[in-house]
Formats: sequence, C-alpha cells, structure tokens
Amino acid sequence: LVAAVLALLVRTESALVHVARAEAGKPVVQDTVAVAAPRASALRRLRRELRRLELATGGDRPSGALLAEALRERDPLTALDERAAAPARRVAALLSIAAAAAGEGRPAEEVLWRVWKQTGLADRWAEAAAWGGPAGAQADRDLDAVVAVFDAAARYADRLPGADGGAAGVLGFCEYVADQQIAGDTLAPRSPQGEAVAVLTAHAATGREWTVVAVPGVQEGSWPDLRLRGSLLGVEHLIDAVDGVDAAHAVSRTAPALAEERRLLLLAASRARRTLLVSAVRGDDEQPSRFLDELEGTDADTLARPVAEPGRALSLPELVAELRRAVCDPGRDAAVRERAAVGLARLADARVPGAHPDSWYGLAAVSTEAPLRAAGEVVGVSPSVVELLATCPLRWLLTRHGGDDPRELPAVTGSLVHGLVQAAAAGATDAQLEEALRDAWAGVDAGAPWFSRSEQQRVREMVEAFRGWLAGTRGELTQVALEHAVEVALPGDPEVVLRGRVDRLERDHDGRPVVVDVKSSKTPISKDAAAANPQLATYQLAAAHGAFTGLGCSDDPGGARIVQVSKTARGAAAERIQPALDADAVAQWLAVVREAARATAGPSFRAVENADCDRCPALRACPLHDPGRQVTE
Ligand code: SF4
Repeated sequence: LVAAVLALLVRTESALVHVARAEAGKPVVQDTVAVAAPRASALRRLRRELRRLELATGGDRPSGALLAEALRERDPLTALDERAAAPARRVAALLSIAAAAAGEGRPAEEVLWRVWKQTGLADRWAEAAAWGGPAGAQADRDLDAVVAVFDAAARYADRLPGADGGAAGVLGFCEYVADQQIAGDTLAPRSPQGEAVAVLTAHAATGREWTVVAVPGVQEGSWPDLRLRGSLLGVEHLIDAVDGVDAAHAVSRTAPALAEERRLLLLAASRARRTLLVSAVRGDDEQPSRFLDELEGTDADTLARPVAEPGRALSLPELVAELRRAVCDPGRDAAVRERAAVGLARLADARVPGAHPDSWYGLAAVSTEAPLRAAGEVVGVSPSVVELLATCPLRWLLTRHGGDDPRELPAVTGSLVHGLVQAAAAGATDAQLEEALRDAWAGVDAGAPWFSRSEQQRVREMVEAFRGWLAGTRGELTQVALEHAVEVALPGDPEVVLRGRVDRLERDHDGRPVVVDVKSSKTPISKDAAAANPQLATYQLAAAHGAFTGLGCSDDPGGARIVQVSKTARGAAAERIQPALDADAVAQWLAVVREAARATAGPSFRAVENADCDRCPALRACPLHDPGRQVTE
C-alpha cells in the first residue's frame, strides 16, 4: 500500500502518538533515560557512605559534591564497601570512556556511541523488550529514549555543522539538551518513505484524499469531545453576557462545539474516494459515538451494525500463547495441534522467548523422591524451626532454601533492637545506646529520609519500652543470662538435638528458669497465641531436660514470656505469658518436636494456610495462593 491509497485518520494528536507507537514502533516524543545510573536505593546508600567517610575525616561537604568527586577521582571509592561502590565504579568507567573520546576530539554523537556500546545494554534491553510485559514496556521506553538522544545529537550536528568536537562539543551538546524546554522531536507531517499508510489527524487531512480511509476510535466522549475550550480572548463569555445567557447553561458554547466536532468527522469521512471504515469500541466503559448513527442515517434501536470480537493482538507473546494453548489442548484436532507445534518449533529456532518447551513452567520431571536425610540420622532442630514446621512445613522448606531475605528492613530492625535491648540489659548508658544506634543505622537502607527517621525513632521507643519492662519485673525475676546458647539431646526416634539461643533467661523465686523472648514485630500477639506458642514451649521442653541446670536453675520449667516492645502501653512493653509446662504438657510438646523433626525429612511438604500467610516470604511460591499457584496440572 502506498500513502496515496490508505489513510488512518484520528481525532487528536495524542491518539496519533498512540497509533504511531503501536503500529510503527518508532519513538515520536523525546524521553529521558539513564543508561548506567544506579537504582535509587543504591544511590542513597552510596551517598550515605560517602558522607559517613567525610564526617569521619572531619569534613562537612554535602553528598552531591562528594559524589561528583568520587566519580571524577575514584579514590574515595576504594575506602567504601564494595557493594556501595560498585554502581559508582560502573558510572565512573563510562565517564572515563567519554572523556577519552572527547580528548581525541570526537564529536558528541561518536562520544555517545562509544559510551552506549560499553554499557552492553542494547542486547539486554532488546531481549527484555521482546519478552513484553511491564519490564518489556520499560525496556521499549528506554530504547526509544536512547534513540531520541542519538537523534538529538544528529540534529545538533546538522544544525551546527561547524560545531567543535571534543570536550567543548560535548559540553555544547549537553547545554543544548538541557536548554530544551519541550521535546526536540517533531510530530510535523513528513513525506512517507516507500510503502506506508498515512496516519494523521482529521485536521491535518484537510484538502487530501485517499482511496481507502479508516477512522478508528469514534467514541462517545472523545468524538464529539464536548469539553469546553476557551478562546484566547474569551469572546464567547462576552457574547453570552450580551445575550443574557446564564453561565451555568452555556448552550452557546456546547452547541457550536458539537457542530464543530460533527464537521470534523464529516471532513475525515469525506477524505475517502472509494471505501470508508468508521469504527468504535463497545464495552463496559466505552460506547460508540452518537455520530455513528448520524453517519449511517439509522436509528440505534433498529440498527444491525457489524460487531467484531477482538482477536489475538499482533504480538509475538500472544502468538506464542495461542500456539501453546493449541498444542497443550487434548480436545483440539490432531492436525491443528501439529501445525501449532511446527509453528512453535520455528519460533523456538528464531529464539522467540517462551516458544521452546524447555522454558515452560511445570514440565520438568521430579528430580528425586528420596527423603532429605537418611534414616537413623540425628536431627538438629531449633525452637523457631519447630514453630515453623508446626505452622506450615512448606514455609519452612522454602525459607530455609533461599525463600527468605534477611536483608529486608523488618529483619534488620529486629536484629538491631535485639542488640540494643541486650546492651541496655547489660547496663549500657543512654549515650552509649544512642551512639550504637546511630552507627548501626548508618548501614541500614531504610528508604526515604522521613521514613528512615521515623523508623529510627521507633527503635528508640522500643528500647525505652524494654527498659520499662525490665524495671517493672525485677521484683519477681532475676536475670541469669543474655543471648544464651541452648543445646540439649532428646533421645528416641528420631533422635533430636534441640539447638537455639534464648534472648534472656531469668530465674523466679523458686529457682525455676523463665525464658524471655523479645519481639519487635508490629503484629500483636494474643494471650492465647502466646500460651500455645511452639517456640516458647520448646524452650520450656529444653528446660525440663536440664538445659539450664548448669546456670543454677532447676529442671522444673517456670514458664516463658514474650515481651512485645513494639506494642507499648503508656511507654511500657506488652507482656504475654506462657504458663509453666506440667509433666503432661512436656510429654505433649516432646511429641510435637519429634513430629517436626520427622517432617524435615520430606520428601513432600504440606502447605498449611494460617493467619500469617499474608506476611509469608514464600507466598509467591505457595500453591495455596494465586501468585504461586501451579500453572500446569
Ligand atoms: S503462604 Fe501460608 S500456606 Fe503458603 S507457604 Fe506461606 S505460610 Fe505456608
């Protein structure tokens, strides 16, 4: 088709941009892109580390200046943790390539090209774009933006043919881009090259004709677009006022707008020499324009307008999905399935993502059905593992094998609070605690500054709440040990070794051990949940097997307590008590621990839905929940 034959006319320029992007895959507006910029969190970490270094050496320059110096000199980066310094090293390496090219007197376009080649992003983004989805769309935008930057460099060279190369030229180009207040690209009509469909607005079609004209998107609300437009001098208000028209019933403004919209559609429709296609979408949120009825001269109630069901989009991911559906559907005709398989094989040869069955989920065979450990092996479990296994064996399996991220902020804050309350219990002063908190917080990536400040304050309040609890319980409890390691053997089948670490061990007036667990999570713990808490009960079980007799406590458990420092009542921590286990309860919990130890062998692990599922780090891999549900049977 040549441009003189077929045209696509749309109502507005924004629709034009949409069509151009979708159909031509070409950038039509200028975007910005950062080809090597570290992620925001990495940048924050880097700035914080540089600032810390600056303060430690007695300086007080802002982090922006320190960052610029680090990228220029690179020396400060050697003093930083590798994780913080790595993104800056990447950017600095690219800058030195740019500097070398500029030093050779190369023009801005070539300097850009050398930097771009060095990033190695072209293949990665092209691959991501081919995959589609949100990441693919982002890669598309990034690639568009890179193309736009190169276009801008080419335009700069065209407009200033005598412009300097080298550093002066690069600086000139940077200023040229920075000075642009609006996108430097153009939507002005250009001559079509080769076979092309003319895509333009109805206004731009004035005075032209095509054999076939398509006018898509004739929707109520957008064509006619009856939003009131003001004129430069607001003459319409003056006319209304002179005619005595109430401003609330601005007939004089909507009626001309409707007439103008109608004229515009007629103008678009009359551009066709032989065939005109006017289309609209009908759905829950969208209705065809009233103009469709006027164009056809029919009554909407008696009209039998052709309705097309939307078919598959012309995109590779949808084609792959359709072929896969056909191949995997046993109800489809054998010949259809075979043709689909041949199509998939061709796409797989062309390395289209998702076409090869090796990349399909759920098709790999089970690697082994053997238990995870040999029969008769001694099983080591900790009280937290007993709790996890008693709650949901699958969660234990997944989090134990990488499904947990200990670097997440709640985990980091929890460790910090534990460290600080132990220091407070050991007699650290306010100033020492504050200094320890500040030092530790400098290494925490807590997000936005306001959030970081509020989290830091929350940590302070938790430490204070713990001190309140500590002061209020000295009459009944005596501190025996902090962060005490526990190891006790429980003979039987299977033979179990209980290993753990109690936050605090106290002794009551009867010499019985009382285990204290300090919790910093925001989720409240009910009295019933604390009374049945498997972790505390397992520690009591260890106490009943003599785990604390070496510390001067009896082997008669004295109960356990949860001190919830994040839930304060008038500044003091909330306390939940698990009563002391009697002989029956000890036997019962021994059975629970043995069952948990048995469950660690697998080979299958049950997912058990529970109140904590929302906070489960393995939720995205859990078959009981949508994000992790099995996609094949
Ligand atoms: S989401 Fe719930 S059921 Fe699934 S693994 Fe996690 S805790 Fe178990």
